[in-house]
Formats: sequence, C-alpha cells, structure tokens
Amino acid sequence: MQTRVNKTRLTLIQGDITEQETEAIVNAANTTLLGGGGVDGAIHRAGGLTILEECKKIRAKQGECPTGEAVITTGGNLKAKYVIHTVGPVWSGGKRKEDTLLHNAYKNSLSLAKDKGIGSLSFPSISTGAYGFPIERAAEIALSTVRNFLKGYTFEEVRFVLFSEKDLNVYEEVWEKTVNRV
Ligand code: ADP
Repeated sequence: MQTRVNKTRLTLIQGDITEQETEAIVNAANTTLLGGGGVDGAIHRAGGLTILEECKKIRAKQGECPTGEAVITTGGNLKAKYVIHTVGPVWSGGKRKEDTLLHNAYKNSLSLAKDKGIGSLSFPSISTGAYGFPIERAAEIALSTVRNFLKGYTFEEVRFVLFSEKDLNVYEEVWEKTVNRV
C-alpha cells in the first residue's frame, strides 16, 4: 500500500528491511546495542562488523541506550547509508508505560532522521517480535506517531517493512481504520 501524508510518501510493504534502499533503516535494537536476534541480528549480519564497532563506540561514550531512545550509525555494507538503532519496550501487560515508550521509539527515530537531514527511512514493526507487544496496538502507535510527525515535517518517504503478510495486513487494516482520525 502506498499513500501520502501531506507531502510525504507513506509505504507499507512486506519484505526484509536489510534489503531496503531508503537512506536509513531503523533497527529494533536492545539497550546493550550489541546485537541480538530477530531484525537486530539480521541487520548486523547483513551490514557487517563496522555497525557493531560504531555501536560499541556509542556505548563507550554514553552507556546503554535507554528504552524509547535512538542512536545512529552508518549502514556498513547495507544499501542504506544509515542505521537508526532504537529500543522498543518489552511488553509486560501494558501497565509499565509500554505505549509511551513505543511512541518514543518511533518519535525519537524520526527526530534523529530529521536532524541528520535523512530523506527516506524504513521501519520494522518494533517490539512485536521477541518483545511480545500486541501487534494491532503497536501498529496503531507506530502509524499515529508517524502521521503526527508528518504534520510538521516532510520526508521523501517513510516505509514500514513488515516481515510477514499477516503483519502487513494488520498494519494496512489499522491504517484504513485510523487514517481519518485527528
Ligand atoms: P523486538 O525485540 O523489538 O520485538 P524482533 O526483531 O524480535 O524485535 O521483532 C520485530 C519484528 O521484526 C517482528 O515482526 C519480526 O518478524 C520482524 N523481523 C525480523 N527480521 C526481519 C527483517 N529482516 N526485516 C523486517 N522485519 C523483520
């Protein structure tokens, strides 16, 4: 699915985020920034060791990356020039500020892209794998955070890259359901 939010192209596709040619891709990292499973492992495998080396430097400078925050490295061997590493919350029932923290992860990633003058970026479905965040609720937060950000800023493109057809369907349904919400 492709649509526009003001002047920004918004794309929802099924695919592998490591293969995207947007200027940046977003990694669903963990607080250690030292790699992990899922999309994090895939990005480090495809991007090569320079990404890990840069993550280690960031850690040495500022310590771990708190949940909801974001940091940036180059893209190593990836087509993307940059990787924005953000840490989504672990789902633990919904009463530990998970919604706010997930919102922060998207918002801080978008802010970092804006500050760097990045024109296009791809997001995975943050927190909905190993971290167990319910996908429909996560999709609502992801899409509304992006939509609100795009009221005040224009990228060439913001892309959501969903790993499974099922996840893509959820994101598309949530988009249709909420698109006219203010
Ligand atoms: P988290 O720990 O934030 O839940 P995961 O990596 O476990 O992160 O999962 C987040 C989402 O990323 C899941 O929907 C998972 O299916 C998806 N995913 C895993 N590998 C890739 C990939 N190469 N490209 C895009 N999405 C991926």
